[in-house]
Amino acid sequence: MFEKTGNIIKLARESNTSAIAFICMDYVMARTVVYAAEATNTPAIVMLYPEHVTIQKTTGFRKYAAMVEELANEVKVPIGLHCDHDYTYEAIMHTIDCGFGSVMMDGSMNDLDTNIMLTKKVVDEAHKKGAIVEGEIGHVGVAKDSDQKNQDLFTKPEAAEKFCRETGVDTLAVSIGNAHGEYKETPHLDIARLEAIRSATDVPLVLHGGSGIPDDQLLVAFSKGINKFNLGTEYLKRYFAALTEFTQEYAADPDPVKVINMPEYVQGKLQPYVEDRLKTLCRF
Ligand SMILES: [Zn+2]
Repeated sequence: MFEKTGNIIKLARESNTSAIAFICMDYVMARTVVYAAEATNTPAIVMLYPEHVTIQKTTGFRKYAAMVEELANEVKVPIGLHCDHDYTYEAIMHTIDCGFGSVMMDGSMNDLDTNIMLTKKVVDEAHKKGAIVEGEIGHVGVAKDSDQKNQDLFTKPEAAEKFCRETGVDTLAVSIGNAHGEYKETPHLDIARLEAIRSATDVPLVLHGGSGIPDDQLLVAFSKGINKFNLGTEYLKRYFAALTEFTQEYAADPDPVKVINMPEYVQGKLQPYVEDRLKTLCRF
């Protein structure tokens, strides 16, 4: 059932757990998430990374939103739609107009006051259009470029409080030792900092850079205020592995259109992984 992402996050918060937002670059990845959610009876969020439209051209904004709504309405479990990191007012308004009721404005590369100004402008207009906005403070960097120990980039509780109060964001992505992409060494989430941010603001918190954080740390973070968790790198990696297996397995098949079997084959390989993530990490 197609559901507002805000309602799924609210449900996660009431259950003291986190919803998982999976980066899905195409129909196969989105369909896999929807059917894994149904099989485990766990709400989930299908998430678009805007560069998959603007750079890799795997889909379009309008058709992606329509695709997720159609897929979601094939099942009973709530499925949300969200657009990940974008950086300008114009781009985000376009995404909302294309059917996304949940978006992210990432101004975290700016100083706090600039981030507040840019994010507030997006929030004010998004709310008029009925959409919710995720902001980010502190800066979640790229894992391969850092050791996640630079506390200058970590979210400061007092800044989080000010940011949420002044911008009116609906959810907040925090930097507590997490990073995007593949970690060089096992990350250690700063749980004390998470608790301090939790006490400073009521806004549901979001954890990016989920690939490679040990499950026991994630479960603690989910019980202490993380209500949305983004998974991208690991899911894309598994997609690549499934495609590799497909080409190896079908290489000798004389059928000239064997590629038509690819979507179902790949979903068969990916769905157990998505089901495992939902079953292991979510406590709805
Ligand atoms: Zn992110």
